[in-house]
Amino acid sequence: MEYNIAVVSGDGIGPDIIREAKKTLTRVGDVFGHQFQFEDLLAGGCAFDAHGTPLPEETVTACKRADAVLLGAVGGPKWDTLPGHQRPEQALLGLRKQLGLFANLRPAILFPELADACLLRKEAVEGGLDLMVVRELTGGIYFGEKGTKETEQGLAAYDVEIYSEEEVRRIAVVAFELAMKRNRRLTSVDKANILESSRLWRRVVNEVAPAYPEVMLSHMYVDNAAMQLVRDPRQFDVIVTGNLFGDILSDEASMITGSIGMLPSASLNVENFGMYEPIHGSAPDIAGKNVANPMATILSVGMMLRYTFGLAKEADAVEAAVRNVLRQGYRTQDLMSPGMNAMGTEEAGDRIAAAIGK
Ligand code: NAD
Repeated sequence: MEYNIAVVSGDGIGPDIIREAKKTLTRVGDVFGHQFQFEDLLAGGCAFDAHGTPLPEETVTACKRADAVLLGAVGGPKWDTLPGHQRPEQALLGLRKQLGLFANLRPAILFPELADACLLRKEAVEGGLDLMVVRELTGGIYFGEKGTKETEQGLAAYDVEIYSEEEVRRIAVVAFELAMKRNRRLTSVDKANILESSRLWRRVVNEVAPAYPEVMLSHMYVDNAAMQLVRDPRQFDVIVTGNLFGDILSDEASMITGSIGMLPSASLNVENFGMYEPIHGSAPDIAGKNVANPMATILSVGMMLRYTFGLAKEADAVEAAVRNVLRQGYRTQDLMSPGMNAMGTEEAGDRIAAAIGK
C-alpha cells in the first residue's frame, strides 16, 4: 500500500528528529511491503522567514491532500518578538483548526526500562505505566466568547467555557472506541459540581455509554483527577476531558513519566485523519547538535501507523524496536544514567530502524 505523508519539520530540533522518524517509516515500508512518500513543507518560524507567514496556504493545502501529517516542532527565540498572528505557534493552531483536528490523544507511557526516570515513588508505577489522555481540542474556553468590560471595580476580562452536545458526543465516541482497544476503562473528567458546561458534558458522556457496554465508565472531578494522577496513576486507562482540563492534565500525566523526549501525540479529525507530533517543543538549546532524543517523534509515527493507517502490526513493531534499543542499554543524553551507553540522535534513529522486524 502507498501512503502520502505531509512532513512539517519546523524549527530548532524539528529537522533533527524528523529525519530519524522518516528513517523509521522507510524501514517499516521495506519490512512490511508499504511505500511511504514524503512531501516536505514549511510551517513555523522557518516559514515566516521564507514567506512572511508562519502557515503558508500551500502548506495547508498539501496537508489536506495528504494521508497524514508528521510534525516536528515550531518556535524559537528568533521569532519571540513577532506580533501574535505572525508567531510560529499560530501554525499549530491554524493547522488544527483547518484540518478539523478535534481529538488530541496523548499517551503517558513509562517504559519499565526507564523506571528510574519516573518522578513518582517506585510502588506507584511498578511494572510501568500506560494511560491515554483524550483531550477535546477545538472547543471549550479556548474558543468561547472572550472580551473585556468596564465594571465598578475597574476593567474585567472574561472567557466563556461552552460545549455543545455534538462536540461532547464526538469526543466521547473517540474515547470509548479507544477504551475498547485498550483495557476498557474510561474516566470522564469534569467539574460538574460547579459548572453548567460540565453537567452537559457528563450527561452526554452518559448518553453515549450504552453503546459500549463493555467499557467501565466513571466520572471524576478535575481537582480529584489531578491528585489521583500522582497518587495512583495506574488506576487510569483512558481519560477523556475538555480542552482546558485536558491541557493541564495531559501535561501532568506525561511529566510523571519524567522524560519529555519519549512522549508522542496524535490529533485526529472525524475520519481518523491525523497530525502526529512529539509533545516537546523545538528545544533551540540543542538544535543541530545531534543530541536530541528522536524517540517521541518515532513513537508518533507508531501512532500514525496505528490510528490513521490501521497498521497495528507495524505500529507494534515500531514500539518494540524503541524498547529493544532501550533494553540493550542505549540512551540519548536526556535519558542517560550511569552504566548506560550514550547515543546521538542519528545513532538512535539508525538503531531503532535496524531493530524493526516482523
Ligand atoms: P522544549 O520542549 O522545546 O524544551 C524544554 C527542555 O527539554 C529543553 O531543555 C530541551 O532541550 C529539552 N528537550 C525537549 N525536547 C527534547 C528532546 N527531544 N530531546 C532532548 N531534550 C529535549 O520547551 P521550551 O524550551 O519551553 O520551548 C522552546 C520552543 O519550542 C519555544 O519557542 C516554544 O514556543 C516552542 N514549543 C513548541 C511546541 C510545538 O511545536 N508543539 C511545543 C512546546 C513549545
